[in-house]
Amino acid sequence: MLGGLPVLRTVREMRGLSRRLRGAGSSIVLVPTMGSLHEGHLSLIDRARSLADRVCVSIFVNPTQFGPGEDFSRYPRDLARDIELAEARGADLIFAPEEDEMYPAAQRVWVDPGPLADTMCGEGRRGHFRGVLTIVLKLFQIVEPSAAVFGRKDFQQSVLIKAMCQDLALPVDLDVAPIVRASDGLALSSRNVYLSDEDRTRALGLSRSLRTARALFADGETDAGRLQQAVAGVLETAGLEPEYEAVVDPESLDKSAMAGARSVCAVAAVVGSTRLIDNTPLGGPPDL
Ligand code: AMP
Repeated sequence: MLGGLPVLRTVREMRGLSRRLRGAGSSIVLVPTMGSLHEGHLSLIDRARSLADRVCVSIFVNPTQFGPGEDFSRYPRDLARDIELAEARGADLIFAPEEDEMYPAAQRVWVDPGPLADTMCGEGRRGHFRGVLTIVLKLFQIVEPSAAVFGRKDFQQSVLIKAMCQDLALPVDLDVAPIVRASDGLALSSRNVYLSDEDRTRALGLSRSLRTARALFADGETDAGRLQQAVAGVLETAGLEPEYEAVVDPESLDKSAMAGARSVCAVAAVVGSTRLIDNTPLGGPPDL
């Protein structure tokens, strides 16, 4: 225990508590995070509370989803603050393992994410989704939740996790939560702490580019190429370095020439030395 709620640091402790809780008839919902919690993560806890009896928040900066030269070593970490925030928001337990608990030996067996990882973020971050799916599967095996909550902020990740649950017959119900944004439209992200004031202003180009895509679509533009061009134009004008802009099917991630109301427009761009992502459905109620 640290503070008031149980903080489990080992696989053995976590599995033991999960088994006791479930043996006593309680269901568990898992909210996986890499910590440095912000309002986006906390909104997942809010949703989780209605999905099961106990909310478990995992906090683990997963090394295998970072590529060489990415920000693993400088990723923000503050476990004491995260525990306070999660507890105040209604989490019942925290699973915060050290790296050698999750990776006690060289990892030999991995989850192959398949073709859904060959596009968008997967193109620029080779191996990223293999690391993500492998750690999510391990967390599911250790916590044994009946449900788990992820954010749509990481849209491609949520599609891949849904696919993993379906294709590997995992007994976990998934909930995908809307994106929480700052009042100026910037999607909350643990990586926003890297941004200088100037970078932060430039970063608003991401949500602006998505609003532009939505507005063009609402005016009748369905040509995916032209929508992507418009998005790229907004990103470049804002001084961002676009990595990709894509109009894709929300399940298959296929890029078709014609956009529909369910299509998702997703962007990744570099601001200074920080890579940021954002996305929106082209139709339906505005979310930015
Ligand atoms: P992370 O700590 O970045 O791995 O994120 C943990 C979970 O929080 C993932 O499911 C993310 O999609 C979700 N998340 C991160 N940022 C936001 C946000 N701004 N709004 C909603 N969910 C978010």
